[in-house]
Amino acid sequence: MAQKVHANVVHNRQVKLMGVRFELAAIAEDSLKAKQAVDAAISEITRIEKLISSWDPHSQTSAINQMAGIQPVKVSDELFALIRRSLKISRLTQGAFDISFASLDKVWRFDGSMTTLPSPEEVAASVAKVGYENIMLNEEDTSVFLKLQGMKIGFGAIGKGYAANRAKAVMLNLGIENGLVNAGGDLLCWGKQENGTPWQIGIADPAEKTKIFSWLQVHDMAVVTSGNYEKSVMIDGQHYTHIIDPRTGYPVQGVKSVTIVCPDAELADGLATAVFVLGEQGGLHLINQLKGIECLIVNDNNELIPSENLELNLYRQNN
Ligand code: ADP
Ligand code: MG
Repeated sequence: MAQKVHANVVHNRQVKLMGVRFELAAIAEDSLKAKQAVDAAISEITRIEKLISSWDPHSQTSAINQMAGIQPVKVSDELFALIRRSLKISRLTQGAFDISFASLDKVWRFDGSMTTLPSPEEVAASVAKVGYENIMLNEEDTSVFLKLQGMKIGFGAIGKGYAANRAKAVMLNLGIENGLVNAGGDLLCWGKQENGTPWQIGIADPAEKTKIFSWLQVHDMAVVTSGNYEKSVMIDGQHYTHIIDPRTGYPVQGVKSVTIVCPDAELADGLATAVFVLGEQGGLHLINQLKGIECLIVNDNNELIPSENLELNLYRQNN
């Protein structure tokens, strides 16, 4: 008996959410199913943005920040769990990743409004408020308390990864077994491409965005890159990235971009930021100890530094 062959259709959409461009692709047998799945994923990302935004004064995250040093704030199980996972990444990375970096976001502004460096005193005063050890979680009533007045949390380094994971989950639930979410450069794909071949994820040269210098062939994987030059600021001829070392309060130097490859987009997002902060040596050392997680670091000399198993499994130079 002849096998029934399904022709696949792909529904693509681009939409601006969480301050970046999201691209969603759902592959299905019929276009209505694919379209509905993409719609549902977009609603989900919109919902998450409302929950975790620290700009929206009415979000649960802002409520936590407003009550810093004053009192605990009861939050949803979902936000509580996200903060719990964030703290886990902080412990894993010895504080290189720290959602309480956010008290520094008035000191370092990457919206074009900063023309001179902040004073060392300003940086010192703000960095004194940074420290994930002072984020207190109460499991009993899912409340969150930031111990110090002026403390602040923000999900800039993990929120897009979380949203990508959730968008995939929503689409999978609706029967989309092949798809892709690109959350402003944080990629998550599952299954295969429309034509049945594995996903090919290009990694762009941080110096020249349109140039792709390597390809990864992946099935169910997140490929997440930190080191977004568009969000850096130039002062006195020097580039300052928007990734801050929580220990010093200063933008990190030495690394141009970090790409993490692992199945979980949220973890990849958090680790990309952490490896950026830890630098070439420390970052590689960490990733080489983690099973199933690989990375590619581009340092300031444009050298490509892959983790131990990246070349074997995934890395393919495109020339
Ligand atoms: P990109 O935006 O280049 O993908 P990231 O995922 O690393 O980069 O996110 C950078 C954002 O994370 C910053 O804009 C800021 O909001 C936040 N952030 C900066 N430094 C840290 C840090 N050390 N730990 C946690 N979050 C950070
Ligand atoms: Mg990140």
